[in-house]
Amino acid sequence: MTLKLDAHPTGRHFLQIPGPSPVPDRILRAMSLPTIDHRGPEFGALGLAVLSGIREVFQTRQPVVIYPSSGTGAWEAALANTLSPGDTVLMYETGQFAALWARLATRLGLRPEILAWDGEDAVLPQAPSWRRGVQAEMIEARLRRDSERTIKAVCVVHNETSTGVTSDVAAVRRAIDAAGHPALLMVDTISGLASADYRHDEWGVDVTISGSQKGLMLPPGIGFNALSPRALEASKTAGLPRSYWAWDEIVEMNRDGYWPYTPNTNLLYGLHESLAMLKEEGLPQVFARHQRWAGGVRAAVTAWGLPIQCADPAVYSPVLTGVITPPGVDADALRQLIHQRFDLSLGTGLGKLKGRMFRIGHLGDSNDLTLLATLAGCEMGLKLAGVALAGSGVQAAMDFFGKQS
Ligand SMILES: *Cc1c(COP(=O)(O)O)cnc(C)c1O
Repeated sequence: MTLKLDAHPTGRHFLQIPGPSPVPDRILRAMSLPTIDHRGPEFGALGLAVLSGIREVFQTRQPVVIYPSSGTGAWEAALANTLSPGDTVLMYETGQFAALWARLATRLGLRPEILAWDGEDAVLPQAPSWRRGVQAEMIEARLRRDSERTIKAVCVVHNETSTGVTSDVAAVRRAIDAAGHPALLMVDTISGLASADYRHDEWGVDVTISGSQKGLMLPPGIGFNALSPRALEASKTAGLPRSYWAWDEIVEMNRDGYWPYTPNTNLLYGLHESLAMLKEEGLPQVFARHQRWAGGVRAAVTAWGLPIQCADPAVYSPVLTGVITPPGVDADALRQLIHQRFDLSLGTGLGKLKGRMFRIGHLGDSNDLTLLATLAGCEMGLKLAGVALAGSGVQAAMDFFGKQS
């Protein structure tokens, strides 16, 4: 079978899934430079530059470990470096990614205890906690009851990519402190980093996990762990086996800009370029741009009369928006139709939400007009699928983007 990866119709494909995100041409060009000796002098300079630049994006002064891996690898690294077999970890289920991280923890020999909001939700009664952020008071209450201190870590997802809901990480830190509990705080911001505001040091996070192919606008293939002094301390006595993921050798060799094994050289060129782009624009401006895009997309969804997945306006994701389809409308059939007719890829409903929602990514190499085209593709597809819309989302988004600057 021949793979025809360039067999798209004319014009650019619209990759509006919430990761991998569209990669800016500047980054693709940077990645096309020749691969160099990963033990040579030029490489050390590149290594030092990206290791220093990435700290600014995590808003940390602590070491950030860079792996040639997917985000899942970085999840495993965070747990394997700090915990011991049989340890209990408190994991809050905001969606499919939180659930997958808990499954990974089980496979590593840890004991995840799952917390999830179980209030009433008329729109998605089967998954009420998948429409809201982490409820920090539930974490505080659970930790207060843990008088034996058996819980070794609290794990939360900052930007839940399966739903389009963020969580208040600072509130989770306050909850742990209010309970006077020593558990480590681990946060997944695989899709949030560099698009949604994230503050590793200020929020008191012990390990932050991220990846390259979402907010950072790079292709897949880099995983990150941002550390804290407490996490490094825990890694000295943690009993889970690890070798490839072990922080100690990597942090040691990173002092000179090198790695114990071969890092993904060309992706690091891409990271270097991504960091330069973020610095040129300024992180506050980057975050505001994504908030604005999200506002325009939500204006469209609201005008269509469809529910936004996130039920709490305080925690709308700036990175993606989940749209719930009316009962009886198969969201995956709709996505397929939109893909065939308009060459536009939208995110699928994951796990409990399969077939009930689709996700619009507003991250990576986008702008007001790519988002308007994306919304036009959605609107035409919804009409073709026979969905009765309350009004034009495209018009609402034009009004939004046309007015605000
Ligand atoms: C994408 C994603 C992951 C998984 O990352 P991979 O690179 O696919 O392994 C985990 N958590 C979140 C929040 C994600 O968005």
